[in-house]
Amino acid sequence: MSHEQRFVERLPATNYQQMGMAMGVAPEEWVFDEPDKVRGLHAAFIDAGADIILTDTFGGSSLRLRESRYAGRATELNRRAAELAREASAARDGVLVAGSMGPTGMLMEPLGELTATAAADAYREQAAALEEGGVDLLLLETFFALDEALAAIEGIRRASTLPLAVTFSFDRGTRTMMGLSPTRMVEAIAPLGVAAIGANCGRSLNAGLPRMVGDVAHYETGPAEMADYAMRFVQAGARVIGGCCGTSPEHMRCMTAALSGGRVRFRGQD
Ligand SMILES: [Zn+2]
Repeated sequence: MSHEQRFVERLPATNYQQMGMAMGVAPEEWVFDEPDKVRGLHAAFIDAGADIILTDTFGGSSLRLRESRYAGRATELNRRAAELAREASAARDGVLVAGSMGPTGMLMEPLGELTATAAADAYREQAAALEEGGVDLLLLETFFALDEALAAIEGIRRASTLPLAVTFSFDRGTRTMMGLSPTRMVEAIAPLGVAAIGANCGRSLNAGLPRMVGDVAHYETGPAEMADYAMRFVQAGARVIGGCCGTSPEHMRCMTAALSGGRVRFRGQD
């Protein structure tokens, strides 16, 4: 339907693909199909120094799952994903589990068919299930549209009082795909009592831009180069650092090694 939808569905689950996930399989399917591998990837990032791990639920809202094999099972899937991350987090004291929630992949009215009520309900359901599964905080990530994020926050607030972080993808340089600037995003989101705001996905926040080889996206920013970007973000004031598409445990290891102690770090879903 929308540019947004195509973009979101192209987010490559590069780590899972290296672990054998076939092209076209949604990463969330592995919560049920390959739970040991989901736990294994969490463990690899914790071992690489991540302090916050993200549940495998980026596309886990009922709206995103509608046409998947697990349509109608959003509550169960999100709860289980949170449990898997929670189990993995025991590997090191202090590791936090963040419940990842990406966009619906739909456009809101009047540009598209999604109503604010339907969006809020989907995020309420997802947040409730993630909290039931034991997450420490919630994360809305890779958002492009302010109205969708506002509806999501409203729904989440009905389900949970957990700390909520919100990040947008300013993948058009200084704007999101929907034309939103960071300044406008902060003006709209910061007063809502969120625990953190930020940016994810895009040139310097991924392991570079993907080069397509057949259907497979290859990210060509090496771990050392990405650690250099991480340093620059910290120098610019960022207090939570992570990676997004293409970020491997090796990238994480390089970033955590490069950054001074006491910084909180987290990893991206993909
Ligand atoms: Zn990304």
